[in-house]
Formats: sequence, C-alpha cells, structure tokens
Amino acid sequence: MQIINDISQMQCISREAQKNGKKVACVPTMGYLHEGHASLIDRARENADLVIVTLFVNPTQFAPNEDFESYPRDVEHDTRVAESHGANYIFAPDVKKMYPIGYQSYVSVERVTQKFEGEKRPSHFRGVATVVAKLFNATLPQVAVFGRKDYQQTLVIKQMVRDLNFPIEIIIAPTIRESDGLAMSSRNKYLSQGDRAKSSILFLAIEDARHAIESGELSRVAINSIMLRTLRSVPEIKIDYIAAADAETLDEPEIFLPGESIVLLLACYLGKTRLIDNAVVTIPNQLNEKNFIEGI
Ligand code: AMP
Repeated sequence: MQIINDISQMQCISREAQKNGKKVACVPTMGYLHEGHASLIDRARENADLVIVTLFVNPTQFAPNEDFESYPRDVEHDTRVAESHGANYIFAPDVKKMYPIGYQSYVSVERVTQKFEGEKRPSHFRGVATVVAKLFNATLPQVAVFGRKDYQQTLVIKQMVRDLNFPIEIIIAPTIRESDGLAMSSRNKYLSQGDRAKSSILFLAIEDARHAIESGELSRVAINSIMLRTLRSVPEIKIDYIAAADAETLDEPEIFLPGESIVLLLACYLGKTRLIDNAVVTIPNQLNEKNFIEGI
C-alpha cells in the first residue's frame, strides 16, 4: 500500500489503473479509522479492483467553534488499518493543496441540507459536498462507499452525484456498533468513562421507537415522545434534535403511512461530545396479530 499526498499523482494512478481495466473505489474518511471505516474498505474491496482510502480532516465542514484543531489524528494507525483491510492507496492531501490561497469554489446542495444537521451546523454540508466533490476529482473513482451512520450526509452525496452527473456508483454501508449499541465514531474517544457508559442511550431510544413502530405506532409526535422519554432516563443527555422523517424526502408528516420507510434521527451531547445516530424503519403494511389483539 502506498500513501499519496499529491493530487495530480493520485489522478494519474487512478487513470492508469482504469486504462488497465481495473475498477477503482474511493472511501472518503477523516481518519482515526475504526471498525466502521474498515467495513467500508471491505465493501469497497468487494466492489472494485483498486481501493483508495482518503484521509483528510476537512476544515470547511467544521464551524469555527467546532473541533477541527482537536479532531483525533493518527496516520500510522490508519495506515495499518487500511492496509490490513486490503486498501491499495491512502490519499492524504495537505490542507494547503486542497484549499490554496485564493480558493473560492463551493458545492451547495439545497433542500436536503435544510433541516436537522444542516440547521444545527449551517455550513457543514457545504463543506462536505465541496470536499467530497474534490476527493472524487482527485481519485476519479467508479465506486464510492459511505456509511449510513451519517444518514443525512448520504442523502446529500447521492443528490450531489445525481445533480452534477458524477459517473460514480454510491454504495451505502450499514452502521457498525459497539457491543452495547453505541455507533462507532472517531469522536467517541472524547467521551469520559462515565459518559461512555451512558452513551448507549441513543441506540436504546431508537430501538424503543422502532419497537413501537413495528407494533403499529404511526404518529410522528408519539414516536418522538418515545425517543424523548428514553433519552430523559439519562439526565446528563442534552438533546440537539430528535426526528422521525420520511427516509427519502426528510418530510415530517403527522402520521406515517403503512409501507413508508422512515428514518429516526438523533443528535445529542454527552458532556462536550456530540453524538449522532439513526435507523431506518419501515412502517408495517398490516397490523400483526399482537396489535390486533391489543387493539381489541
Ligand atoms: P468520518 O471519518 O467520520 O468522516 O467518516 C467517514 C465515513 O465513514 C463516512 O461515510 C461515515 O458515514 C462512515 N462511518 C463513520 N462511522 C461509521 C460506523 N460506525 N459505521 C459505518 N460507517 C461509518
């Protein structure tokens, strides 16, 4: 495995591989790789001949009050993880090469970025869409793999790829979790031992809502109340947002329809650490026998 820092060298490598009939996959990351990232590399390997993992902590997706400077970085560890999962290249460009003095072009995806993460972190998705477009142009992949962990981000990327005609297949891989349900994240490292023990409450809140939906709950307000009640069992949790929304449009009707796919979205603070999680649940088409009996 080779580490490439130079953008034009990366483009040459990808073009050359494709000239030789190889399919190229890109796995964009901000590094500090964990098993969630590793699962994306595995998925890329299954779908391509040459896998490029990008490591770039992207300043344009962090607000000035956020953790860009302190974001965890460990290139040696990342190299070991990427290599052991069969990546062929790490692409780790310098910030000054990605955003040289005089830089002034940004990608702005509109409707799908308005709510939830986009509302709480106003410049975040502009930074994400811009850097992903740039990483696509540097690695020239035919396939790119993203994690469902960042649910709204997957919608933004898919929209950008459609709207701007990137000839790239986007694969979304499932969220990898710790044994207690906490979604893996590079930021979990910030959690104190005490907060770490409480952090699985996000997953439990989602699971409680999922069970209610699978048992016939259709009301958005009721679904949100279930998540809220579970989260409140940990008084230290500060809720940034809770939502149940249509999984494709992110619309929030009062009542969901049978057969509709909905996404449960949570963002919470534990101490100073911001955690996000989500799950996609399909509203059952018919009430099962248990609901029927309870309904009587
Ligand atoms: P990040 O390094 O946090 O920007 O994430 C890079 C990619 O890894 C994104 O596509 C994330 O959605 C994905 N990812 C992060 N955590 C997980 C996880 N626990 N399971 C699956 N994918 C993840």
